[in-house]
Amino acid sequence: MNSVYAALGTTVFEIMSRLAAERGVVNLGQGFPEEDGPRDILEAAARATLNGPNQYPPMRGLPALREAVAAHYHAHQGIALDWQREVTITSGATEAIAAALLAFIEPGDEVVLFEPMYDAYLPMVRRAGGVPRVVRLEPPHWRFEHETVAAAFSNKTRVVVINTPHNPCASVMSRDELGMLAELCRAHGAICISDEVWEHVVFEGVAHVSMLDVMRDRTLKIGSAGKMFSLTGWKVGFACGAPELTEQFVKAHQFLTFTTPPNLQRAVTYALGKERAYFDNLRAGFQRSRDRLVGALEGEGFVLLPAKGAYFVSIDLAASRIAMSDVAFAQHAIEHGVAAIPLSGFYANPDPPNLLRLCFAKKDETLDRGAEALASARRSAM
Ligand code: GLN
Repeated sequence: MNSVYAALGTTVFEIMSRLAAERGVVNLGQGFPEEDGPRDILEAAARATLNGPNQYPPMRGLPALREAVAAHYHAHQGIALDWQREVTITSGATEAIAAALLAFIEPGDEVVLFEPMYDAYLPMVRRAGGVPRVVRLEPPHWRFEHETVAAAFSNKTRVVVINTPHNPCASVMSRDELGMLAELCRAHGAICISDEVWEHVVFEGVAHVSMLDVMRDRTLKIGSAGKMFSLTGWKVGFACGAPELTEQFVKAHQFLTFTTPPNLQRAVTYALGKERAYFDNLRAGFQRSRDRLVGALEGEGFVLLPAKGAYFVSIDLAASRIAMSDVAFAQHAIEHGVAAIPLSGFYANPDPPNLLRLCFAKKDETLDRGAEALASARRSAM
């Protein structure tokens, strides 16, 4: 059997959500909003299901949805996309990342990654035959330093995977950082897979900059309706990039999932047309929740890292005077009534910093209960 998967455990998100459900504790672990997205989008999906057709949509996605994706990115990020040649609908962003790696990598090619990284990247790079070159980012700002990044590139580099806004770091890449990476990609003939699923979840008026806007010809940008509309279980993703990249990308996509449920595609077509105020409210709502959780935890003596994007914030355990590893404290926190995600699961190399990720896309009452449970776990650990 394949050795990459044989050596792999179950994803930490699944483990924590299962534990939270079994123990009936507050779940601040796996990243999903406690409340489903807008009712009118759900109704659009219900109508689309009842009215049909529910047969295979085109392999690249429904034309109307691909047009809506192009129009959305044009309106929100100033990016002009040819919907027929540059937009593909996928079954979630994870499928898009897998298809992109399978499509772009030849066994032995080097892939530059940055740790901490979303847990799906590394196994998929390895499974595709890529050789990972991992650059470590350092808290609290997780900046991309030219010297360390440049040292990871070689004449074998073919792909670079980035994620902005970043899960789990909650950092947002600047145009300068993207520009520096773009220069390195050009110099080495590499393609960038840019996971931008959190593009609408940025705080304090920070503007999301897409890698597609910085390096138009060599970037495959990945987006997610689940994140935009708080419907994470729908698994509707978008992959956008130059025709040469898209042509190669769809070869992998066609034999992975082939297509994505048509009822959900039609509902997302409707959703993408939402007025700007919807996205502003989404951000404002998450920012309020972030501030509520951070305020409650700081009041209890926790030290947290900055959270500028995505709906996560991390506790610095050592600075919070908790002398336990992230995994041990996560287990301990379950006993006190709350599930969270230890960051060590996002590292490829030893000695990760001791951080615990919390998802704040929850109701006030859940955030308050979570903060109380964490405070009680901290008191008993000190
Ligand atoms: N993106 C989600 C998170 O970071 C997890 C998604 C999943 O479990 N596959 O928590």
